Amino acid sequence: MKQRMERMSVRLVWIAVVFGISLCSGVILRADEPYAPNRNYDLQHSKVALRFNVEERKVIGDVTHTIVLFRDNLERVSFDSVGLQIQSVKVNNRDAKFETTDKNLIVNLPKTAKAGDKYEIEIKYEGKPKKGLYFILPDKNYPQRPAQIWTQGESEDTRYYLPTYDYPNDRLTTETILTVPSDWLTVSNGKLISTSDAGNGMKTWTWRESQPSSTYLFTVVAGEFAEVKDSWRNIPVTYYAPKDRADRLVVNYNRTPAMIEFFSKKLGVDYPWEKYAQSMVDDFVAGGMENSSATTNTSSSLRNPELVPEYPMDFDGLISHELGHQWFGDLVTTKDWGNIWLNEGFATFLEFMWTESHFGKDEGDYERWDSMQDWFLQQNLYSKPLVRRDFDDSSEFDGNAYGKGALVLYMLRSQLGDQAFYAGLKHYLEVNRGKNVVTADLAKAIEEATHTNVDEFFDLWVYGAGAPKFDISYQYDAEKKQVVLRVKQTQKVEGRVGLFTVPLDVEITNETGPKLYPIHVSKADESFTLSSATAPKMVIFDKGSQVLKSVEFKKENQEWIYQLKNASEVADRADAVVALGKLKGNDEVVAALAVALGNDKARGVRIVAARSLGELGSPAAARELLSALSSISQPDLRSAIVQALGSFKDNAEVAAKLEVVAKKDDSYRAQAAALQSLGKMKPAGAYDVLVAAVNSDSPDGYLREAALRGLGSLGDDKAVPLLREWTMPGKDFDSREAAISSLARLKKDDKEITQQIAGYLNEPYFPIRISAIFALGTRGDASAIPALEALLNSNELSIEMAPMIKGQIQRLKTPAGQGGAHGGSGEHSEADAKASDDQRLAHLEQLVQEMNDRLKTIEGRLPPASK
Ligand SMILES: [Zn+2]
Repeated sequence: MKQRMERMSVRLVWIAVVFGISLCSGVILRADEPYAPNRNYDLQHSKVALRFNVEERKVIGDVTHTIVLFRDNLERVSFDSVGLQIQSVKVNNRDAKFETTDKNLIVNLPKTAKAGDKYEIEIKYEGKPKKGLYFILPDKNYPQRPAQIWTQGESEDTRYYLPTYDYPNDRLTTETILTVPSDWLTVSNGKLISTSDAGNGMKTWTWRESQPSSTYLFTVVAGEFAEVKDSWRNIPVTYYAPKDRADRLVVNYNRTPAMIEFFSKKLGVDYPWEKYAQSMVDDFVAGGMENSSATTNTSSSLRNPELVPEYPMDFDGLISHELGHQWFGDLVTTKDWGNIWLNEGFATFLEFMWTESHFGKDEGDYERWDSMQDWFLQQNLYSKPLVRRDFDDSSEFDGNAYGKGALVLYMLRSQLGDQAFYAGLKHYLEVNRGKNVVTADLAKAIEEATHTNVDEFFDLWVYGAGAPKFDISYQYDAEKKQVVLRVKQTQKVEGRVGLFTVPLDVEITNETGPKLYPIHVSKADESFTLSSATAPKMVIFDKGSQVLKSVEFKKENQEWIYQLKNASEVADRADAVVALGKLKGNDEVVAALAVALGNDKARGVRIVAARSLGELGSPAAARELLSALSSISQPDLRSAIVQALGSFKDNAEVAAKLEVVAKKDDSYRAQAAALQSLGKMKPAGAYDVLVAAVNSDSPDGYLREAALRGLGSLGDDKAVPLLREWTMPGKDFDSREAAISSLARLKKDDKEITQQIAGYLNEPYFPIRISAIFALGTRGDASAIPALEALLNSNELSIEMAPMIKGQIQRLKTPAGQGGAHGGSGEHSEADAKASDDQRLAHLEQLVQEMNDRLKTIEGRLPPASK
């Protein structure tokens, strides 16, 4: 996984994106190394014995590395090691001299050392890791919390709890020996070899991974966990949850063996590890992490069983992504962070493949269409190629590595055809099995397997940047019976962005039906003459939207309506819905969208139709949404409709209906959406409905969280005492996060509230600290700056938080009207700033809602920036 962004709550990344905050701006404490280091030795095996002083949050380690030298005359070898106290080092069982710097442990070798020599280097050490290894423990506020210790290595954090060679371009086998309280479980890479009584109420677990992988994929999970055992073809498949949530494992994770089977068959390479464990841990700093044979995921993916039926795809995106990495990332690993798309693009592509296979082509196509829209909204990605090394000031784990990477692979599949494409992947996996790769290895393997030259494709899409922006129009020549299709590429050709050469299909539908015309686009401006016996009813450029691109296609309203009704592919109907959503004041358009909302065979098109009706904003559109609400029962659709209704401010009928849904509905999702929509619309009764929902019970406080967020949008200061109550330590984290965010939006002149929120910066809980950081930025009270600066300068800061804090301080220092918070500089600008702030906050609310629905834990997937 993981971009630095990924390692924060994705929700907050979102907030950062919304406010245009560069997460990595300003001083970077340490960027990842773009180039792999030279190697002086091969780290072949590590025996890692760890114990823990839980009270002191200390790790006590004894690691023995087996290394083989690559060079003669090496006097010393160096390991990555940060903040660890090294107690002793032995080389081949004899005490050795060593020194430490702030980044390294350097060990002296015997004078006779030469290339090919093998050494056993034993290091005893202890430390209180600031990152890499985390202690999640019960305390006075959360006395029932199951104790958990877990690690997160990627990208370069293993070195904070284990002195080692910590870059992907080396691979080793491991033996992990963990001594923990005897009622704990442990998980590490590979096979469980033994457990034994260690005395004093302790137990020792020994795990062995016999296939080499890189140190960022090393994992330790230990604590009060419950285990469920499953299997795939005699390989153990296990799931772990904090012990109070054991009942959630099967309902959320039981499709795992089917996924392993699907990927094994599709890729032609069987799942390569000796077991597959998935551990769900609290306060995880990422969505998920694909440690070899032992993935760690956030416990947010343990959805309450009562809510699961409302989410048909549940957490399959996360589960399939991390599983996909077991081939792409773990078995075959990027050599350096510059090629990270080889890990992340494939894992994201395999999410699409699982969706397509398990939930059907329409669902897969919708997911892909949606991620194409997302990619174009992240404008900062456009000028950057997939393979790049210039990530000093922006993370390499960006929307290119994930989204664009996956879309490029999808395009390659559609250009080569399924059979050739998968033959290429199989060959790539087989020849590079157990190795580190760069992008050229993929191109070479595909060419070897398919005898198709993909160099130009890679130059355009992988080493080059951007994607074509098309401007399309056509004319029908009745005399010649021809469609003349004019295709312009309008992207600015500069830097790494060029003109694109791309094959695609144009579909022309006339009286006699549809006909496909393959064309090859390569120029800035060109025309294609295509025969058609009668005037076309519909012309589709790039049928099914196989190519990553944006298109301006000027069509008559009627043609869009025809396309919405008749196009066979989801992407083409969804495009029509989006185009129609911009055509205000036309009853026929409203009617066509209403039909699509009610009857389109694809769920995705129906959701987009609800959104478009909301954007039209007319009374007729409201009537259609209300009518759909009375007949549609699917929770995802109901929630999309209710969300769309939230944009009809001052419509009493809509407000009344939303109150009804907010109070009672068969769908929790619809209820939650109604609570948030009421907050935005601010009708007279909204406050009472929201307060009642805060005080009501629902699974995991699901409705309470929505209501607390709604109170922030509502902006009624009466809610302050209630919000304060729900921000308090001891309340569940979801409620606290929502309450902190909403409290920040009320009584903006009240310094006491600012102080209260600032107090949460010092809590030990990662999600609460992050909520407080962003809430203070939103609040716009500059008196919070010293507290933020104090946190920034404290030693306990985990590195990911620094850029976030800097971003918020920047917002507080930015005068009103310049994209920051309003600073109270004069009446006029104050009002302006408030208006724009309100607008952005309303937008934010919607994003957060979507986040909760779709993306809360999906690793690395940036959210749609606007809906
Ligand atoms: Zn990933």
